[in-house]
Amino acid sequence: MRATQFFISTTKEAPSEAELVSHKLMLRAGLIKRLGSGLYTWMPLGLRVLRRVEAIVREEMNRAGAIELLMPAVQPAELWEETGRWAVFGPQMLKIKDRHQRDFCFGPTHEEVITDVARREIKSYRQLPVNFYQIQMKFRDEIRPRFGVMRAREFLMKDAYSFHASHDSLVATYQTMYDAYTRVFSRLGLTFRAVAADTGAIGGSGSHEFHVLAESGEDLIAYCPDSDYAANVELAEALAPATPRGAPAETMREVDTPKQTTCEDVAALLGIPLQRTVKLIAVMAGDKMVVALLRGDHHLNEVKLGKLDGMADFRLANEAEIRAAFDCPPGFLGPVGIDRGKITVIADRTVAAMSDFVCGANKPKLHLTGVNFGRDLQEPDRVADIRNVVAGDPSPDGKGSLALCRGIEVGHVFQLGSKYSQAMNATYLDEAGKAQVMEMGCYGIGVSRIVAAAIEQNHDDRGIIWPATMAPFLLVIVAIGYGKSEAVQKAADSLYADLTAAGFDVLLDDRDERPGVMFADAELIGIPHRITVGERGLKDGVVEYQPRRAEAGQSGDAQKLALAEAKEFLT
Ligand code: ATP
Ligand code: MG
Ligand code: MG
Ligand code: MG
Repeated sequence: MRATQFFISTTKEAPSEAELVSHKLMLRAGLIKRLGSGLYTWMPLGLRVLRRVEAIVREEMNRAGAIELLMPAVQPAELWEETGRWAVFGPQMLKIKDRHQRDFCFGPTHEEVITDVARREIKSYRQLPVNFYQIQMKFRDEIRPRFGVMRAREFLMKDAYSFHASHDSLVATYQTMYDAYTRVFSRLGLTFRAVAADTGAIGGSGSHEFHVLAESGEDLIAYCPDSDYAANVELAEALAPATPRGAPAETMREVDTPKQTTCEDVAALLGIPLQRTVKLIAVMAGDKMVVALLRGDHHLNEVKLGKLDGMADFRLANEAEIRAAFDCPPGFLGPVGIDRGKITVIADRTVAAMSDFVCGANKPKLHLTGVNFGRDLQEPDRVADIRNVVAGDPSPDGKGSLALCRGIEVGHVFQLGSKYSQAMNATYLDEAGKAQVMEMGCYGIGVSRIVAAAIEQNHDDRGIIWPATMAPFLLVIVAIGYGKSEAVQKAADSLYADLTAAGFDVLLDDRDERPGVMFADAELIGIPHRITVGERGLKDGVVEYQPRRAEAGQSGDAQKLALAEAKEFLT
């Protein structure tokens, strides 16, 4: 590619709203342009990176035996009603109407659509197992879109869904996909960790997340350096043994426990070990207490809801559903910590709304006494302050102590079981000709998020340093005075032709720019290898080679190469 025939638009400054280094660099390097909140155009340079990530993901999915298809982004509400998720998915779902006032959504995920495909297409056990995948834009109306494409509203996801005649078959495919994910992130040159995860709003049993390790990550991971144990903290907290802890975060306010509920009751009924602080939303309804566990992203629209009477009804819910169930006005539900017989109110937004709610006729009664309401907490993320697992806590596997690190979730694999297939009646005929419900797994990769996550791990003060497998171009030829010097033009063109013929993705910077500008751009854009062709060097028959990243033990300084040898050296 010649720079004069391509589109490069770099800037010195990043807009002030960009907080993360990846966001700043993606804007400065001209990889993306913002259209609106959580909406980005992938500019030609950025698209080349995105396509590389996509290609590796596609190769590994194909290798793992998954079969590509493409489902509609717009999905009819009826499908989501079959699984009950139309009502409970929450405000992350963008609902739209067609000209006949029929309800649709812009797909945040595709379990319903693929299950519909499966129930129509799969008749016999002989067609199982089968694993379908697509690479497609999703829309989630995130509560706080931020960090550029890291947490966007429209983003590119690879989502795969497998169908099985037995649980063993599901477990086998799950392992194959886990291994494929490991290959994807290794090939992309990322430092990552697979961690046990909560199953969140998607539901189901076994689940792992893949995290790119970075200080800027929104997730907190607890791991044991002496064993394989690693978990997203929301899960680590539920599993870690109890140890006394110091004063709670200052945003907390303690209140007396409703008379009939103790922390032990809650822990026992939820079937989790008693611990320091469980992040819960608790609402009393008559003599029942409804408890919602906060998910790791700490947004109230993705919580688990359990009824304390028996807990058979432990299922997924969101803030809207809890509000609907208790006819509770918006802003009322505040995160609540339960700790040894004390309920800790972290935030309660609307005292007035609460008293209305408590006093309303024929409504479930909320039993909180002596309440000293906390101050209004605008930032849902402040709830993260109450995370109580600290480095040095014993590892749940008993093999050492926990260390903490931050991660960016780039992949997630789930064993869904029959949650969707049951609800949507996706059955096949077994060997005896009997109808059986299929088992399902689902597997997501945040393709566009990976681009940002990779930059978090690979940059310096001059710009991006792409891992070779993701780079928009592998090599840049900076031709100084291309339009002015015949010698430079000739040497640069021939090198460009040779290297391109050798299979390299080469950018020939033939722009009429000062050398400083071209070097700065090459470094900002993060191209792994650079050859500089200039008149002075050519007089001695040499060009300069410089790697973007200094290899271990090497200075990273420019190195002179005989023009004749440059091709040999690089290939
Ligand atoms: P998060 O916890 O970051 O909100 P999630 O658990 O809601 O992610 P999944 O439903 O597991 O996401 O979707 C699969 C993958 O899609 C995630 O692992 C992540 O890499 C990516 N992803 C999810 N939400 C976004 C987003 N808003 N912007 C970019 N990528 C996203
Ligand atoms: Mg999410
Ligand atoms: Mg998550
Ligand atoms: Mg996830």
